[in-house]
Parts: sequence; structure tokens; C-alpha cells
Amino acid sequence: MKPVLIIDPGHGGKDPGGGSNKYWVEKDMNLTISLYQFQRYQQLGIPVAITRQKDVTLSPAERTKIVRESGAKYCHSNHINAGGGDGGEVIHSIYGGEDMAEEVAAELQHAGQNIRRIFTRPLPNDRTRDFYYMNRDTGAVITNIIEYGFADSRGDDIRQIKDDWQVLAESVVKAFCSYVEFPYESIRGGVTLKKYLSLPPEASTWRIYPLNASPVKGNEKGFLRPEKFGGLTYQILGTPQAHVYLIQTRDFGKVQIYGHPNTGAKVLTK
Ligand SMILES: [Zn+2]
Repeated sequence: MKPVLIIDPGHGGKDPGGGSNKYWVEKDMNLTISLYQFQRYQQLGIPVAITRQKDVTLSPAERTKIVRESGAKYCHSNHINAGGGDGGEVIHSIYGGEDMAEEVAAELQHAGQNIRRIFTRPLPNDRTRDFYYMNRDTGAVITNIIEYGFADSRGDDIRQIKDDWQVLAESVVKAFCSYVEFPYESIRGGVTLKKYLSLPPEASTWRIYPLNASPVKGNEKGFLRPEKFGGLTYQILGTPQAHVYLIQTRDFGKVQIYGHPNTGAKVLTK
């Protein structure tokens, strides 16, 4: 079935995006928000596509081609802003998408995010063309670039995005359902997204600990070998203490593992 909507998690792969801080990298937060929405639209029965489901690099040409050829009528391009402001922004094409942008902004506001502006921006030297390529090169697909807030906000955006990204992501789902007049149902019992711990391929070994001992050097049960496998990813089954995760391994059974962000480990939501 042709999708009605395509979701575009901004940036990815070699392009981390600018809306990053010590809590998140923009490309990852965009993906987290987008995968959540992707799952929600599927749940609601809205045919939906997505430009990337992983941390991969897409050039502007590749990205806009996926959108143009998706068959979708609408696109959310999800981003986190930077530059020291506070609040959400929705950007639409000079040729349309303003009414959808207004609904999205209104629901973000209901969800507790202040809205800085809804706007459109032409190229300075050719005012018949959009400034942003996601508006300019996505053909007939009505695209809203949604900036959920500022990564370097001095206001409340950092807390809002870190703690309440799901509330903000959901508000856009609600807005879009209303815009396309599709019945919206709020989440019952919550959508449980699985979390994964990803160990980088640069790490030759990684300590793992038994369940009944403190996860500190000297108590190792064994070592995982991320490098040998081009990186390793495990579903997180529990978080007994900060940055300590329970995972099921093939060779050692259920173990504890330490994965503070400064170790190079990443927690992913799928
Ligand atoms: Zn961005």
C-alpha cells in the first residue's frame, strides 16, 4: 500500500546534526522520535514509510529521492535545533504545508512545548525556491521540518526533550491524525519500545560480570569481543544501577555489563 506519510529522521551516519548536547546526539534523538512515530502510525493503521531506520548516512539527494519516490503525500522531517533559542519551530514550503504546520505546532504547545515560530524561508537569490532542501527538493510531498526544541536552550528544552521526547513525538502523531482526519487513539498501556546496548566495533574486549557480584574490575565473568564481530548489540533486560545493564549473552548467559556513554557504548531505542 502506498504510504500516506513518510517520516524523515534528520541527519545520520557521518552527519551527527547540530542539535546535540551532552545528553544526546541530534541524529540519534531524531531517530528515536521517528521510530516511535513510525510504530505509532502503524499501530493506528496509517500507511507510513521512513527514510532511515538505522544510523546511516543519507546525502540530501538520496534523502529527498526516497521521499519523492515514496508515494507519500506528507512528510515529517524531524530535527533538534541549536543556536541558543528555546521552543519548537515548524518550517513549511513557500508552496504549502502551512495548515499542517499550524496543527503540529498547536499540539506541540498542548504537550507543553512553547512555539517560537512557524515559518517558511525562500532562497535569498531565488525567492521562487525554498531555502531548506527538505522543502525544496521533496517534489509534491508536503513536508514540514519539525524542530522539537533547542539542544543548547537556556530554558526548559533540554529537560523536555531528554525526559519527554515521547510526549512531544506523540503530540505530532495526534496533530497529523487530526490534519488528515484519521481517528486518533492515545496510547493505552504505553508503547514499550525495546532498548538495546550497542558496543562499538573499536573495542577489542568488554568486561561482563555475574549477576550476584558488583560490576567492578576483578569480578569479571568473562569478556565480550565487539571488534571481532564488527560491534555487538544486546537487548537491555534491566538496569540494576546507573549505566549498568542486564543482557543475555550466548556464551555467558545473563550478565551485567557497564555501558556509560564515555565507554563508547550506546543505548538505542527500537
Ligand atoms: Zn537537524
